Amino acid sequence: MAQRDSLEVDVLFVGAGPASLAGAIRLCQLAKENNRELSVMVIEKGAEIGSHGISGAVMDPRALDELLPAWRQSAPIESEVTRDALWFLTAGAKIAAPIVPPMMNNGGKYVASLQKIAKWLGEQAEDAGADLFPSFPGQELLWDGDCVIGVRIGDKGLDKNGNPKSNYEPGADLFAKITVLGEGPRGTLAKQAVAKLALDAGAEPQVYAAGVKEIWQCAPGSVRAGSVIHTLGFPLDRQTFGGGFIYGMAADILDVGFVTGLDYRNPTTDPHNEFGRFKAHPAVAKMLEGAKLLRYGAKAIPEGGLFAMPRLYASGLLLAGDSAGFLNGMRLKGIHLAMKSGMLAAETAFEALAADSFASDVLASYESKFKNSWAHTELRSARNFHQGFERGMFAGLLNTGIGMITGGRGFGVKDRLHGQAGFQRMQKAGFNPARTPRAAVDNVIVFDKLTDVYNSGTMHEEDQPCHLKIADLNICRDRCSAEYGNPCRHFCPAQVYEPMFTQSNGGFEGRLQINFTNCVHCKTCDIADPYQIITWVPPQGGEGPVYTGL
Ligand code: SF4
Repeated sequence: MAQRDSLEVDVLFVGAGPASLAGAIRLCQLAKENNRELSVMVIEKGAEIGSHGISGAVMDPRALDELLPAWRQSAPIESEVTRDALWFLTAGAKIAAPIVPPMMNNGGKYVASLQKIAKWLGEQAEDAGADLFPSFPGQELLWDGDCVIGVRIGDKGLDKNGNPKSNYEPGADLFAKITVLGEGPRGTLAKQAVAKLALDAGAEPQVYAAGVKEIWQCAPGSVRAGSVIHTLGFPLDRQTFGGGFIYGMAADILDVGFVTGLDYRNPTTDPHNEFGRFKAHPAVAKMLEGAKLLRYGAKAIPEGGLFAMPRLYASGLLLAGDSAGFLNGMRLKGIHLAMKSGMLAAETAFEALAADSFASDVLASYESKFKNSWAHTELRSARNFHQGFERGMFAGLLNTGIGMITGGRGFGVKDRLHGQAGFQRMQKAGFNPARTPRAAVDNVIVFDKLTDVYNSGTMHEEDQPCHLKIADLNICRDRCSAEYGNPCRHFCPAQVYEPMFTQSNGGFEGRLQINFTNCVHCKTCDIADPYQIITWVPPQGGEGPVYTGL
């Protein structure tokens, strides 16, 4: 039997997104400035750095200006923003807002592909001296009591029953003085740490949205690079948070996406379907006439804001980026906050290494660094944004407007607006919801989920353990069928879940088919399942979507 390798490093960053990569660069910069030798490692579950990176994205360059002031010379930016527009959509028309609210003013910002930015940041991190390991999925945290001492990488070469095959390779144990989790939204390891150490005690529940996005090649000369359009209204009902975006990239590429709050009421809500209805709207469909679909992807977005962030530190552990909720839902931006959090985590880690102490009270300075930074000021000004929408779109817009005048307090709020976890808001099918209207698949503008999975480049080996762990399949059949109508069939944007249940003798029979090879790693199921019995864990390293330009 193959032996499990182990390796020791000073600081281990998990997940090669903007938080970890900015953190690794900052740590290497500090080591160089102070003539210190440090081992800095970044691990990533995707096959390449950036291959699981997906975002809108309109990027605020504030953190990048601090980290790499000469970034404009080499970063793969598509365009500076050249136009901002906000549309309110009705079923058949669009109403363009005469002015764009200040928080959605993107002057001086840049449209970019997060996949390309992450790849480029990875190159900068390697040049700075960090070691990057793609195809290394962090499977579980290694503990010494309540202190995190590293990460175990997932095994390779197990069959579907978990037995070793001839190519079996046990995942290495990576021991680190400090582990920084920048895994993205609903990180597997962050979830473990938050649960074990109750890091979310006193915080509001994190609330998420599901973002679904495609990129399209349009006719030459038809796309205005740097054009940023956001939409409200159709196709969502007034109780559901979300909206659309259309960004003009370089070379006549159009990024089109739709965000649906995962705190919706109707269990038949389907983020991929809402995206299809959005694209079929005359104002959007017109922009896609003659265009060719290039790529598809999906990802959850942490929308809960400042008060939904967990404690950011524990002994041996720091949380950064989307894993910790560093995202401004009001400005629809998180890349700059993720990067800043990684940089502050790096500065905290560097001080702790200098003091040779990695205990919780030493790493607590991360939180004070955050509180003294512009990232905290920004998040505080949007602290009650998403929670305002729990009372519907118009109440949310009113709360947002008043929040802008009151420094983020909002409508009739002392300081903090309490929220509810999204899955708790889902109504049981017993109230007999009308199924949300379905988009007409025409294979021109609107595609079915399987076509979109194909366009995500997703690949998983079939003969491996299913990476979607369901604690009790009987609940899916015996309770969820009757109570919610199996919403997993709707909320998954990759048609992974196919309930094959039939009613019989007053109950249900059959099984839940899980097509895990379709999974685009968006984490929606882990978040939206009303019984909270789905746990997403990484599959074999290097598998999943292959995002290019997303
Ligand atoms: Fe997303 Fe879960 Fe579906 Fe995978 S199985 S695509 S993580 S909802």
